[in-house]
Amino acid sequence: MAQTTSESVDETETNETTESALTTARRQLKRAATHVDVDSGVVERLKHPTKVQRVSVPLKRDDGELEVLTGYRAQHDDVRGPYKGGLRYHPEVNADECIGLSMWMTWKCAVMDIPFGGGKGGIAVDPKSLSDEEKERLTRRFAEELRDVVGPKQDVPAPDMGTDAQTMAWFMDAYSMQRGETTPGVVTGKPPVIGGSYGREEAPGRSVAIITREAIEYYDWDIEDTTVAVQGYGSVGANAARALDEWGADVVAVSDVDGAIYDPNGLDTKDVMGHEERPGMVSGYDAPETRSNEELLELDVDVLVPAAVGNVLTADNADDVQANLVVEGANGPTTFAADTIFEERGIPVVPDILANAGGVTVSYFEWLQDINRRQWSLDRVHDELESEMLQAWNAVRKEVENRDVTWRDAAYIVALTRVATAKETRGLWP
Ligand code: NAD
Repeated sequence: MAQTTSESVDETETNETTESALTTARRQLKRAATHVDVDSGVVERLKHPTKVQRVSVPLKRDDGELEVLTGYRAQHDDVRGPYKGGLRYHPEVNADECIGLSMWMTWKCAVMDIPFGGGKGGIAVDPKSLSDEEKERLTRRFAEELRDVVGPKQDVPAPDMGTDAQTMAWFMDAYSMQRGETTPGVVTGKPPVIGGSYGREEAPGRSVAIITREAIEYYDWDIEDTTVAVQGYGSVGANAARALDEWGADVVAVSDVDGAIYDPNGLDTKDVMGHEERPGMVSGYDAPETRSNEELLELDVDVLVPAAVGNVLTADNADDVQANLVVEGANGPTTFAADTIFEERGIPVVPDILANAGGVTVSYFEWLQDINRRQWSLDRVHDELESEMLQAWNAVRKEVENRDVTWRDAAYIVALTRVATAKETRGLWP
């Protein structure tokens, strides 16, 4: 168990270049708690995960060598429903990262008012070092190690960095074989042919676009005159950019890990391939100008969407950001210190737990489809996602207006109030 690791995190630590997801998540919780009238004991409980599983996952490599990898599953809180969150395969996966990310999942599900709590897990491994066969063996063994703590009513994993729909299919198959019954609801993000939902893949990017569109309207701008820069042209970034482009915005810059392309007159986003679609295509695209990823963040645009990795907006560059609005596509792209600078500068930041929550929302739709054994059409998924995003947006907007707080504080107020009220109502036993 890794609780002791999380206890060691110092909330007053100030080195933000190494700010862990757990440190950021705890700072955000502490700040949110000052805005709401909730029992301090409940807040104390929410600083800690309910459980953290740490498992050894033996893997037989294709050459016959045996390697023992370490896997985790952090379960933060399930007061409102089963734990929910991704499984990532990445060399830097560790207990604290999983705990911090699982806390964000608790808030994300609560902001969206879906009946799930927060979970996150993964294996410390470089996914590029795995053949398909190795990845399948690793995933099946990981599913076996986690079998007692996951399940449609307990904890429902999903794809994350380094994992995909196929990984979820193996996980679901391994779990189902041991249960003796096909159990599609044990994971989401599966291929539609085995109970996955249409529209799940593009959902986080689509929700980023929906929330950006609402924010543009809220600030009384015209979407046709709005310029947008998107860092990271992967699943989230490309889907967000293409939807905004379709709705009339000028997407003037996008990037992948190799760099950014820039056209002040707007890019044709359908013509730009994402890094995953064709590596090197973003930076290799024939655009009038190029920029580095760092320069993209400081472009003179109306909206900046960081949709690649965490901690890219820091105290070092927050003063140089020229955008009038930041919408977080990635999880945790803004450090706590950068957030404070943006607040002082009057630049609104719409947080990840609202903006990219379309992913977990369509995961919830998938879980409902699995339980009911009935598939929804893509149109229905889009309509229901739109409606859920607007409800969440309106709940958060009301807090912004009534309390004159930032968008992040408002989203936390909505989420924490829902989670804390559920905890107070259920009480503590024994
Ligand atoms: P992805 O792998 O599909 O795309 C990531 C993109 O970022 C690629 O274009 C890649 O080239 C680029 N990139 C990678 N490292 C970079 C760096 N250091 N600087 C600039 N660009 C870099 O990933 P994704 O699924 O789009 O996820 C992006 C972010 O959104 C992550 O923070 C993820 O946690 C978050 N997110 C993803 C989902 C989802 O379901 N896919 C849901 C919610 C949040």
